[in-house]
Amino acid sequence: MTQKNSPILFTTKRPPIIFEKGEGMILWDTTGKAYLDFIGGWAVNSLGHCHSGLAEVIAKQAKTLINASPQFENKPMLEFAEALTKAADLEKVFFCSSGAEANESAIKCARKWGQKEKQGAYEIITFKHSFHGRTLATMSASGKEAFKPLFEPKVSGFKHAEWNDISSVKSLVTPQTCAIMFEPIQGEGGVHPIDEQFIKELKKLAENEKLLLIFDEIQTGIGRTGTLFCYEQFGVKPDIMTLGKGIGSGYPLAAMLCQQYLDIFEPGDQGGTYTAQPLGMAVGLYVLEQVNKPEFLLNVQKCGDLIKEKLEALSNIVKIKNIRGKGLLIGADFPEINTVDIVQKCLEKGFILNAPGLHTLRFIPPLIVTESAIEKGFSILEDVLKN
Ligand SMILES: *Cc1c(COP(=O)(O)O)cnc(C)c1O
Repeated sequence: MTQKNSPILFTTKRPPIIFEKGEGMILWDTTGKAYLDFIGGWAVNSLGHCHSGLAEVIAKQAKTLINASPQFENKPMLEFAEALTKAADLEKVFFCSSGAEANESAIKCARKWGQKEKQGAYEIITFKHSFHGRTLATMSASGKEAFKPLFEPKVSGFKHAEWNDISSVKSLVTPQTCAIMFEPIQGEGGVHPIDEQFIKELKKLAENEKLLLIFDEIQTGIGRTGTLFCYEQFGVKPDIMTLGKGIGSGYPLAAMLCQQYLDIFEPGDQGGTYTAQPLGMAVGLYVLEQVNKPEFLLNVQKCGDLIKEKLEALSNIVKIKNIRGKGLLIGADFPEINTVDIVQKCLEKGFILNAPGLHTLRFIPPLIVTESAIEKGFSILEDVLKN
């Protein structure tokens, strides 16, 4: 079916492939063609496709309790909240279904805090080229150039600083500022990690000016960068942290965590029909248990290192610059070739890759990726680059 006569509302261009089945690192389309998947639902399917343990948990919970209403507590909700807050070293959690919704919660929490504790301060400093979601407030928070002219008027109260530039942040702080919000690695913006020095300076600034630090770990959290949370690698603890994507390994699930003192919502301030829905909670608990094992995280680190080595080796064929990222969130620039074309050619050969820009490739495979899958993927990429 062409997109023009499809009943699906047009929001993005999609290639004429229909996926039907998945297992581990592989997707199959309706013609039976197999694809090695190095996108994993866009940094989502941490455990790969149709993980058997996860499928079992879903089936079991589906036969026990799918939804009890947000008005009541349920058993999986209490279990998962306990495990996640402990693992994150943050005392409180609000559950929701998408990353944007988690970030909306973070924004509301910061504004509530500003209202109560900082004379109504409401401005949040975010960063150029950042991505925080597609609701009106999270689009307004995002520093994506293409969002600028869209859906005016934006939600006000967001100021966009230069990434990794502390003087730019300082110049935007006013008595109205309540928080600074950032991704430890800008993912959609092209894999741009925060500088170690910069995050320490942000921490100092936050202390001096009484500002909250909001870590958007929707892409970097749940093992993606080789530790359970990316923030652990900097020794700077979030006041608020948001999770999404990999936390559900493909099931729509997200969370906002915060420190005890931010437990400040009153009834009616925040909620949602699907908050802490038992099926999602059972999924989250299972995914967390799988990812939060030393050998699992070691595989992420090792495979990430191997991808970087493979990229270095490719520089014999093409010019490659700035191989960067942590764990299995890796980017590299190819200044002399069009990476969107490369992605298209790899797709034809059964290898799914992502180009967040015209000269950048991003590697975000499922966290269960293996050495042999990396060998295979890079042999296809090498072939494509040689031609
Ligand atoms: C994907 C993403 C979001 C948005 O999550 P959705 O589930 O698409 O709403 C927000 N922030 C970051 C850093 C992301 O990568």
